[in-house]
Amino acid sequence: MQFTDLGLAEPILKALAAKKYGSPTPIQSQAIPVLLKGKDLCGIAQTGTGKTAAFALPSLDHFARSPKPTPLQGCRMLVLSPTRELAAQIAQSFRDYGRFLKLSVEVVFGGVPINRQIKALSRGVDIVVATPGRLLDLIDQRAFTIKDTEIFVLDEADQMMDMGFIHPLKRIAKLLPRERQNLFFSATMPKEIEALAAQFLNDPVKVSVAPQSTTAERVRQQATFVNQAEKQALLTVTIRNEDIDRALIFTRTKHGADRVVRFLEGAGIQAVAIHGNKSQAQRTTALQAFRHGHVKLLVATDIAARGIDVSGVSHVINFELPNVPEQYVHRIGRTARAGAEGIAISFVADDERPYLKAIERTTKVKLDVVALPENFMEAVRNLPKAAPQRKGREQTSEQKAKRAEGQRRYQDQQKQQPRGNAERAHRPDGDAKPAKKNFRRRRGGGSGVGAHKGAVQKTGGRS
Ligand code: AMP
Repeated sequence: MQFTDLGLAEPILKALAAKKYGSPTPIQSQAIPVLLKGKDLCGIAQTGTGKTAAFALPSLDHFARSPKPTPLQGCRMLVLSPTRELAAQIAQSFRDYGRFLKLSVEVVFGGVPINRQIKALSRGVDIVVATPGRLLDLIDQRAFTIKDTEIFVLDEADQMMDMGFIHPLKRIAKLLPRERQNLFFSATMPKEIEALAAQFLNDPVKVSVAPQSTTAERVRQQATFVNQAEKQALLTVTIRNEDIDRALIFTRTKHGADRVVRFLEGAGIQAVAIHGNKSQAQRTTALQAFRHGHVKLLVATDIAARGIDVSGVSHVINFELPNVPEQYVHRIGRTARAGAEGIAISFVADDERPYLKAIERTTKVKLDVVALPENFMEAVRNLPKAAPQRKGREQTSEQKAKRAEGQRRYQDQQKQQPRGNAERAHRPDGDAKPAKKNFRRRRGGGSGVGAHKGAVQKTGGRS
């Protein structure tokens, strides 16, 4: 089957061709025809299956065929996402797939000033992608209403529940209009998620793709038994021994993620951390630096990493194993995306052996046990101290990454400006001053993180 067989509007097909998508993924070929008929849908699918396009394309088709003015302080479509990063990613997908349509897309989430979001929503928008807490804040301040929503999407429902969003979701359900199309996606469908789905859906068509365990099949999975106290040394050796393009390193706690980064920095290895204690600006910067390849190692907790779609992740390293087997599947699903093969390496301390057993039972894959590397004991003895916590004017990896991002944006701007500072754009890395100055001055007008403006981004038919 090809996208052209689905009967999608021409501007959407044009955008898909520009992205070089030929055929729909299984979730797309199952969901799109149902959604084009206006039916409700309950989808069991995780990120990486193409589910964003599965709900974005038919919705865009609806807007292309039934244009309407946007409702004042309201929206025509509401997508709820559990995390800020996923919300931003979904909004970007709408912009990409809808680039030849004149539609407005806004993303709203917490951790950034609300006033800009209030202003951006005041005249109404076509598509809003939101995290539940900030959406309710906006509604409580009477700055936004969801009473005109025609299409409602609840994405990653199981993670919403894990993050304690059940009460906000129940409130949101009551504020939606009766007449609407509902789409509900979850990676798993235990009883409590089914009960939640029942509150939103009306006679839904059910589709399900790639049961959890199959994601794991394209990933080479290894486990090494190691004392908890020696994991940092093992990580340093692993990073040096492996041929890493990009690696996601998972820790169980936020504090643990910071500690890993500091130890890596101590060993002269650049890494950034992303977790719930970081400010939104720090999270965005870290993710952008990782996405653009300025930093090869991103250390993350589960909550922050869920749903993140970064291509070219060659390795997932479980510094600690998750105690929920499904979380392991989500983690390793960050590699081996879009048909690529990936490697997942798990460091297993004695008290984590039961977690390993549970994981193997769920995935039906036995992890290859890899012995400690030859130079391991030496690495343990010589493990450099952790870098001190941020001090004075010293640059952390995060600040270095931020600087690299600034430079990249500056260079992009220079490329778009034929006249002028082409020469300065190629200054060696050490000389970043002009880039910084220029970046600040232009901050409001560009694209990407610099133009983030309180996480509200608007498009009017542009990519
Ligand atoms: P998602 O599950 O929505 O996070 O999508 C996972 C990745 O697959 C994203 O990078 C999409 O851009 C990509 N993708 C989605 N649909 C297709 C398709 N039909 N062909 C190729 N790539 C796709």
